[in-house]
Amino acid sequence: MTDTHFPPPINGSAANGRADDWRIDRERARAGGAGTIPSEALEIVDETASTNTDLMARMKALPRERVAPGVHAVRAAYRQTAGRGRQGRSWQASPGNALTFSLACVLPRPLAGLAGLSLATGVAVVDSLARLMPGEAARLALKWPNDVLLDGRKLAGILIETAWSTASASAVVIGVGINVRRDEALEAELEAAAAGAPAQARATPPAALSQALPSANLTDTLAVALKALTEMIERFGTHGFAPFVDRWNACHAYANREVVLIDKGVELARGIATGVDGSGQLLLSTDAGMQAIATGDVSLRLVDDAS
Ligand code: ATP
Repeated sequence: MTDTHFPPPINGSAANGRADDWRIDRERARAGGAGTIPSEALEIVDETASTNTDLMARMKALPRERVAPGVHAVRAAYRQTAGRGRQGRSWQASPGNALTFSLACVLPRPLAGLAGLSLATGVAVVDSLARLMPGEAARLALKWPNDVLLDGRKLAGILIETAWSTASASAVVIGVGINVRRDEALEAELEAAAAGAPAQARATPPAALSQALPSANLTDTLAVALKALTEMIERFGTHGFAPFVDRWNACHAYANREVVLIDKGVELARGIATGVDGSGQLLLSTDAGMQAIATGDVSLRLVDDAS
């Protein structure tokens, strides 16, 4: 699909700057950091169901024993008709206001060696956004396992899926959705959905990058994100999560706060969130002692918000 006739976004940039600056400028993105991705491996499409689904299908078709480690493809879409979050939840975004892309790569590690990959991805996304707005970097934080927050609200979501793994390598697809510009209609929709949910299960309200960086745009955001993700993939491939632990803990949104872990509306554990360990488990100080929570399907909430 070409992007020539694609309609402009609802909250397009006509009011904010150049009329076409809601589009991704491939060459500027490559010059700004995405040049680590070969040009033919960077795909930008108008619409697809889910960029993660597309790249998962492609990675599953690769001959497992013969593929080289590294980034194989990046696919960004202005609109996803079935954008996905964890556990079958949906990721919603409107064209031009959000950056949604997936990166497919092969890591020289078996499945067990991928522990902490989703947290390392969160670190890479935070660090890339911090580079765009150094003066505002302290407003960014990570909610375990990998939500990126701005002023305590959800700025970006990450979905990692494994296409296959062997004794020495794994093919994964890393999906990232970043709210670049505010979309008040979407915010209202997300907040209405959250208000209808039980307090324990209520979603973190959304934020957009433009709230901290008024000139935020898709091109520069994609450029810094791809640079940071490529570096992270290489480092994680060699060392695993270990080099990212301190940085994750330094960005921990709920450090030393009381939190509750929820699975399908049911409370699983409650305690003080002290940080993460070398495999990305959340360390929870509870009445029964320290508990390490593995990244699974649970959701984390602040007790102040859940009560
Ligand atoms: P939890 O906070 O329960 O752990 P999660 O991290 O599993 O959530 P994701 O899978 O990352 O959540 O994202 C899906 C959820 O994010 C949706 O259920 C919805 O509440 C919320 N959401 C969807 N689209 C957006 C968006 N553009 N901005 C912020 N939040 C969104």
